[in-house]
Amino acid sequence: MKRTVMNCLDELEEIAAYWIGRQFPRPDIVLGDEVDEPFCSWCGQTEDVLSFCTCGTRTLPWSRVIRLGSYKPPLSTCLIRGKYSRWYEVLELIGHRLGRRVRGCVPPHTVVVPMPMPYLRWWFRGINHSAVLAKYVAQSAGLQRCNPLLRKETPPQAGLSASGRTRLKINTIRSFPWANLRGKPVVLVDDVLTTGRTLEVASKALKSIGASTITVAVAAVTNYEESPKKVISASFTH
Ligand SMILES: [Zn+2]
Repeated sequence: MKRTVMNCLDELEEIAAYWIGRQFPRPDIVLGDEVDEPFCSWCGQTEDVLSFCTCGTRTLPWSRVIRLGSYKPPLSTCLIRGKYSRWYEVLELIGHRLGRRVRGCVPPHTVVVPMPMPYLRWWFRGINHSAVLAKYVAQSAGLQRCNPLLRKETPPQAGLSASGRTRLKINTIRSFPWANLRGKPVVLVDDVLTTGRTLEVASKALKSIGASTITVAVAAVTNYEESPKKVISASFTH
């Protein structure tokens, strides 16, 4: 709960900073070196909270999670600034770092797909952060990129705790009628994995147009430190 409030405050601060025109420092200085703890490659949870991992008892819609780190500063702060203050350069750096981790973990004919953003939210924010991340993931990993999905407008879930999120409906994310990924492995790119519901809905849409396997590449994973079992089992029941 406390962390949720902190996330909301961070976001409000970034929105205010954008409106007063604050300048940004160099992304590599703010983001620091790449450091990550060992994590579960199915759900993305950090190993020291792996007692919360229920991967053995559920069906995941993807085959693997690739991540840069846990959702905590400085990574979380950089992602919030990237999204809400249109800090393109930090998203570019995060995308490159993630792309280097993806490279070599997937076959060369894999396609990189960004998590779709509703057009109204895109227009309002002025940046599609997942598309920016996916662009540089594809570039660094040496893979093709395409946008076969579109998303209906729903209330944004960022900043809410896992249990406070509304369950995303399956028809929220759809594929374009002409989209076809038959037999292709896909890397699905998003900024943060929290309950996994959005990624699950997008994965189903990708499978419906023929994607053979789905690898999730996210900048950060929220670790379940509060009532994790409730959250995880609630998000993956069918
Ligand atoms: Zn796991």
